Amino acid sequence: MTQLLHGKAPLASSVHDKRGWGHHSGSYTAAKGYRSFQALQYAAPNPAQWNFIWSYPFVPKIDFFCWTLAHRSILTGDNLKTRGMEGPSRCPLCLNEEESSIHLLLECSFSKETWQKVLLLSSGDIAIPENFKELFSSWASLSPFALNKKALLKSAWMWIPKAVCWKIWLERNRRIFREEECSSSRVASKAIAMLGEDLDANPSLVNSRPLDPQEIRWLSGFTSKALTKSAPPKPCLSKWEVRLDE
Ligand SMILES: [Zn+2]
Repeated sequence: MTQLLHGKAPLASSVHDKRGWGHHSGSYTAAKGYRSFQALQYAAPNPAQWNFIWSYPFVPKIDFFCWTLAHRSILTGDNLKTRGMEGPSRCPLCLNEEESSIHLLLECSFSKETWQKVLLLSSGDIAIPENFKELFSSWASLSPFALNKKALLKSAWMWIPKAVCWKIWLERNRRIFREEECSSSRVASKAIAMLGEDLDANPSLVNSRPLDPQEIRWLSGFTSKALTKSAPPKPCLSKWEVRLDE
């Protein structure tokens, strides 16, 4: 240890050694700790996906579920195998493929149908990302709408991945543990209803910019308040013929 320290800093016998943080004052602050933590490569390899999960809070247990998805740690067949639990690991939705979180929620034909039905857009308008890191970090950029200053519209869009993944997960569990099943249309309806309830329950979500007709039509698929919680459209400037001689 003395050899390591030798040449790095002057050693003075009159000063006692002490533990300190960093190279300067040695005092620790939360800001310094946070900066050091951010500098660790494994701490936040893709901040965008964590921002997506925590900056647009939906239902706490569903936010947490998405966090476990991002860590690839939900207990699908493939993960159970790595934990030494042998059993059937076929996807209960399509009965064709090995069950993994990516297959179950993003790749499965049943899930793809559910995604498209919840999006309320034409089939193929949005290509569902291939993994959760991409899904969570790029979802905002996939929006066909301008979301700035449109809090209600933005929340509807940003909550879709959470609502869809959660409802597909519940459907998977229903099939495995209760031997009951719903169609992809029914699962999509449940996701849309849950989304709408949360939009309506949050009075602070208001579109401070007016929506265009396409945005109003889309948002009305989730909530009946698309118009009442939006700024009125800008008045059209019309040319009026004014006859001063009357
Ligand atoms: Zn499947």
